[in-house]
Amino acid sequence: MSDGRVVMITGAARGIGRATAIAFAEAGYRVAGADIAALASAAMDYQPATAEDLARTGELVEEAGGEWLPVVFDQRDIAAVRNGFAQAVDRFGGIDVVFANAGIQGFAPLLEMSDDLWHDQIDINLTGTANVLRVAAPLLIERGGGRIIITSSTQGQHGTLDGSGYSASKWGLIGLMKSAALELGRYGITVNALIPGLIDTPLTRHEDRYAQIIRTAGNQPTGELAEDERAAAEGMKKKLPLGVPWVEPEDVAPLVVFLASDGARMVTGTSFAATGGDSANITA
Ligand code: NAP
Repeated sequence: MSDGRVVMITGAARGIGRATAIAFAEAGYRVAGADIAALASAAMDYQPATAEDLARTGELVEEAGGEWLPVVFDQRDIAAVRNGFAQAVDRFGGIDVVFANAGIQGFAPLLEMSDDLWHDQIDINLTGTANVLRVAAPLLIERGGGRIIITSSTQGQHGTLDGSGYSASKWGLIGLMKSAALELGRYGITVNALIPGLIDTPLTRHEDRYAQIIRTAGNQPTGELAEDERAAAEGMKKKLPLGVPWVEPEDVAPLVVFLASDGARMVTGTSFAATGGDSANITA
């Protein structure tokens, strides 16, 4: 059990962040959940999370027996991140664990992509996560140690057709994680990466993603996807080795809770995957 330790989770309004917030509450943590809870990038073609989504995470955390603090910030803005962490310290007295998980994902070929598609992914996924670490690390040091878990992706371990900005941002996070592990180990802070596979969240089920699946199969989508093209794209997704098409966010969360635990105190500087077996297709 956690003895009331405090976790700050970014991207907490839904998806992996929400499932992990509930899992931490079930493990006895007090939970601060941060999200932009608004449109993060006009270059994405899926619906943004809302203030209601973040409030719903709070209800679920409280139903699981956890104390909850909602925090709203855009992680591109380091002053706002600092303010959000200060709210959590005011409320809970400090921070023990940081799950730096917020992110976005868009698709377009390099030859066609907009400037925003590239910059928003690098600015939110890579620079925004670095902002969270730079704000959080001194707070963990004040606490005498702690845990940082960063959400990367299998796409941070291989190239992605029409997904260069996302792959570059998620690969960059591996470099950030390893460098931070080297620098923060002396303070009793571990830093690791979570590698989710194909997880059933709004970030992966949208038009641009389906068009990318069709292109990966060597075909050309026809503008706005018809219902049958969308269904075909779903069908083209390979079944994962464990026999499922998707991994649920709830199947990722326990790995994060483990990495935050006392049992993981000698675990740092590396990556942990929950991919339904897709990891077996990736070198190392
Ligand atoms: P999700 O449901 O879209 O959750 C991500 C959350 O992060 C959203 O609520 C999002 O808000 C928030 N966010 C985006 N930009 C932000 C910013 N600048 N500041 C603060 N919060 C921001 O997606 P998810 O699938 O749970 O993704 C969580 C993490 O897992 C992401 O880093 C993603 O790249 C990674 N991941 C996901 C998969 C997958 O298959 N789903 C696989 C590998 C890795 P908006 O909705 O307003 O943008």
